[in-house]
Amino acid sequence: MTLLIIGAGPAGLAAAEAASRDGAPVTIVDENLEAGGQIWRGGPASWQDRRARALWRALSTRAQVRWLHGTRVAAMAGARSLLLEGPLGPLRQDWDQLILCSGARELLLPFPGWTLPGVTGAGGLQALIKSGAPLAGKRVVVAGTGPLLLAAAHTIQQAGASVAALVEHQPRRALLGFLGQLARRHPAKLWQAAGLLRALAAVPMQHGAVVTGAVGQERLLGVTLSNGRVIDCDYLACGFGLVPNLELAGLFGLETAAGRVQVDAAQRSSEPAIWVAGEATGIGGVDKALAEGAIAGLAARGQALPAALLRARTRALAFATLLARSFPPPPLMREVCRPSTIVCRCEDVTAAELAPHRDWRSAKLQTRAGMGPCQGRICGAACQHLFGWEAPGLRQPVFPTQAATLALAASEDRDS
Ligand SMILES: Cc1cc2nc3c(=O)[nH]c(=O)nc-3n(C[C@H](O)[C@H](O)[C@H](O)COP(=O)(O)OP(=O)(O)OC[C@H]3O[C@@H](n4cnc5c(N)ncnc54)[C@H](O)[C@@H]3O)c2cc1C
Repeated sequence: MTLLIIGAGPAGLAAAEAASRDGAPVTIVDENLEAGGQIWRGGPASWQDRRARALWRALSTRAQVRWLHGTRVAAMAGARSLLLEGPLGPLRQDWDQLILCSGARELLLPFPGWTLPGVTGAGGLQALIKSGAPLAGKRVVVAGTGPLLLAAAHTIQQAGASVAALVEHQPRRALLGFLGQLARRHPAKLWQAAGLLRALAAVPMQHGAVVTGAVGQERLLGVTLSNGRVIDCDYLACGFGLVPNLELAGLFGLETAAGRVQVDAAQRSSEPAIWVAGEATGIGGVDKALAEGAIAGLAARGQALPAALLRARTRALAFATLLARSFPPPPLMREVCRPSTIVCRCEDVTAAELAPHRDWRSAKLQTRAGMGPCQGRICGAACQHLFGWEAPGLRQPVFPTQAATLALAASEDRDS
């Protein structure tokens, strides 16, 4: 019986630990070279979070846990078989049970100048820093909405850069309301937020404003804000929230609603042999990912689900609901995106070219939007926000692949 886990972020690691506790073999595949997903990027040696360290301690002593690092799931190779692309080329991986923990990516919303070098996602800049990008001495504006902005600003400061401004779309009153809710229902989160706010005490904060433009010719020189201010900077890190990665869920034909995979109380999806955990079932953060991952791992092994674990998930889901209500993507960004603003940056398609179309399919056919290397992962979510279009469905292979992988897929097709 092969239990395959896709994704070695917090959800995948928790699933692997729970599923392999009784000695059962588990295979974990992740396209990153090291485990940890988005939040614990940088590899086990750099992890500070004691939960990450405990998971790693347990997993690294279990010989029955097999790791496929640097390996991406690209396509189906049969009913219970996947086509992977790893460091040694394409390979086929069969499975009997599968736990999908494919995480999330950033929602990037277009505005004039957003394609200039120096403009990144807030989490994207964090990831660059964790991979060693030198930022010391640089001036960075962090803008958008949500608590990820605080985490990003903190990482940027720790990298030796100065945060020229933190621009949060929500007005101060709404933020105080959010902190009040944290105090009442999630006091540990309030402590976390207070710690970050203390560390960022010297950072100029702008509330109730959004970025209206990135200024510069060859690269970023500054940003303009909706409150009329202009701020000089070398980098702009934008965070408008996260979007679940649903490419693989689409590949398996899992039921989704409101942009997330639907699961039952045991994290089981509409396909009985597939469980789903973490951001793919809805954006909620690391606590939700850990609780759901552990539940999925135990459920896949047919083991009882401890009441404490179920309570932890309930708490994490309540926090996720509060986050979604408190920090929706700013509606103002629809006006900030001008007719001449590029929306699909792979194929250089502007908002004016997209606007006449009634849905994503028509826009894609007539403008090539979503047909570049990102395959609509960035502009698809942006168009959902701008025009209310349903996000694009994907065809196999779900990621750009090497010719050798396509050749293996073709030979699998011929043989089947
Ligand atoms: C850019 C970014 C930065 C973030 N920074 C923070 C932060 O500073 N603080 C914070 O609290 N939260 C942060 N978050 C939120 C954080 O990601 C989640 O709370 C948490 O990591 C979710 O865990 P997960 O296991 O569900 O997903 P992830 O951690 O995203 O893990 C998913 C894993 O699946 C792998 N994967 C996906 N598709 C495939 C495939 N086809 N083949 C192989 N592997 C695949 C990915 O490589 C990834 O390692 C960030 C999110 C993003 C997107």
